[in-house]
Amino acid sequence: MNGHPGAMTLGFNEPLIFDRSVPGRDGASLPRLDVPQADPEQLFTPALCRKQPAALPEVSEPEVVRHFTRLSTWNFGVDHGFYPLGSCTMKYNPKLNEWAARLPGFASMHPATPTHLAQGPLQLMWELERMLAEISGMHAVSLQPSAGAHGELTALMVMRAALKRRGDARRKVLIPDTAHGTNPASVALNGWEVVPVRSTDKGLLDPESVRSAMASDVAALMLTNPNTLGLFEKDIARICAIVHEGGGLVFGDGANLNAILGRARPGDYGVDAMQFNLHKTFSTPHGGGGPGSGPIGVVAELAPFLPAPRPVRRDDGTFALEHPGDAIGRVRSFFGNFGIMVRAYTYLRELGAPGLKQVSDMAVLNANYLLHLIQEHYHVPFGDGRCMHEVVACDRDMANGISTLDVAKGLIDRGFHPPTVYFPLVVKGALMCEPTETETRETIEAFAAALIDIAQQAAADPDALHHAPQRTRISRLDEATAARRPVLKAP
Ligand SMILES: *Cc1c(COP(=O)(O)O)cnc(C)c1O
Repeated sequence: MNGHPGAMTLGFNEPLIFDRSVPGRDGASLPRLDVPQADPEQLFTPALCRKQPAALPEVSEPEVVRHFTRLSTWNFGVDHGFYPLGSCTMKYNPKLNEWAARLPGFASMHPATPTHLAQGPLQLMWELERMLAEISGMHAVSLQPSAGAHGELTALMVMRAALKRRGDARRKVLIPDTAHGTNPASVALNGWEVVPVRSTDKGLLDPESVRSAMASDVAALMLTNPNTLGLFEKDIARICAIVHEGGGLVFGDGANLNAILGRARPGDYGVDAMQFNLHKTFSTPHGGGGPGSGPIGVVAELAPFLPAPRPVRRDDGTFALEHPGDAIGRVRSFFGNFGIMVRAYTYLRELGAPGLKQVSDMAVLNANYLLHLIQEHYHVPFGDGRCMHEVVACDRDMANGISTLDVAKGLIDRGFHPPTVYFPLVVKGALMCEPTETETRETIEAFAAALIDIAQQAAADPDALHHAPQRTRISRLDEATAARRPVLKAP
């Protein structure tokens, strides 16, 4: 494959579905009523009954299908093309997972089904918990939280309960300056206080800064490994030991687990609690705010406080639900996003242990290959020419003041979803690219070619880049206004 895929498409206009509505038109064919018609006001609380029919669009079935299919073409997904959104691990979602999640025994199971009739789903959840525990070196796992951030919060709540049991009222949390924004947000939501810790000029956390920040009121350190610069925290074991010696706990943000699967286990290097982003590492779809899944794993001391109910295997091999007395309670209705668990379970069963090791090896190899291809054209401030699963470049060396935003917009015209931009905050004008293991060599080369093409255009024709994208339905948005004053309907 030469060059980049470009962007060229049939771009249908599509009005709101309400604008397609014609009174009396519909897309449903109901059978003739063969029972006496009842008065809803006699069956239900009259105040709850509509006086007027709901103002729903009246459209035919093909119009509904076309409406949503056309709208879907305005979007970009991992099934369209390369999606190098750093930190988010936008790997391909195997269709086999979808087949498994649609099996009627899983898809149609009511969450309130009595346990003796729900043995299959309970076994799947129990086995998934055990697999995640094995992968991470954790003692026990809860599948309830429904996003990474939700898992962070849940783990902090579990830590708070465990510290209380120790008779300890610590409430400060150390967070390195490379952290994802959800980390401090979760601390605040848990009613605790953030203490920032600076990383070194190598982009790593220095054990000595952790030692000097450690105090008797520090409850925990929250850190991501590999960190958001795509670097493995080489002193992680010492750092964890320092926190433990000071009486604190270590939370490991597991969002970057894709880099170390089968190679390193957070539980082995001293992490006490972590989240798994099933929608990142374990290939389940990312939704717009859901349905994600962010299970947590914890060490033995924290296990009694995990959310309940939890699946357990009895001696006779059957499965039951347990409500331990110390549990912090539920953090989600029923069991969490079960359909996502089926997908992650399927992925794990398909790959097995050797496959998982290959995942992280290939993810790291792909990122390093991309780094190698672009490093003469883009400044990469940390890592000395090496990275783990993602490469953080920046706009420092761009000609004519071309910014990271311009580069991102230029990529759209070349048929690529932009990488994560302006994060992590410690890199000015960051371009954070995570190719993942599911991309071919040709795709990575095409993406690098597009980035290099943009760097050359920055020198030759900067004005054109300032006006990118040009091949999209709408060109450059004022993104702040678009977010704060969205116009949802044309006047
Ligand atoms: C994605 C991410 C999170 C938050 O996970 P969500 O599932 O998006 O809530 C936290 N930390 C890091 C490093 C991440 O990349």
